[in-house]
Amino acid sequence: MPLYSTKFHSCWLEKLDSDGNPVKRWLKQGTNPSTFICSICKTDELSCGNKGWQSIEQHMNNKKHRDNLKLIQQKRVRAEHEQLKKKNKLVDEQSKNENDQMF
Ligand SMILES: [Zn+2]
Repeated sequence: MPLYSTKFHSCWLEKLDSDGNPVKRWLKQGTNPSTFICSICKTDELSCGNKGWQSIEQHMNNKKHRDNLKLIQQKRVRAEHEQLKKKNKLVDEQSKNENDQMF
């Protein structure tokens, strides 16, 4: 055990990654106070005990993580698209009904 280890700070969850996305989308504290988990890479507990926030930055900049993040974002955008489509359809049908009532 190192004498001094940086604990996971919950305020890190408020930070943004290099693309401006909130890190709390994927960053979770591990079971140990100085470990963290990336929920999109499904990592084991990674230590931030030596470098603190730097270890998280290191993780967010690695290629695998960025690829995973991209995939997730694409999925999310697609899901939002689908939702929007459904919503528009609903609005369409509603306004149709209103028109029906008017005539
Ligand atoms: Zn990751």
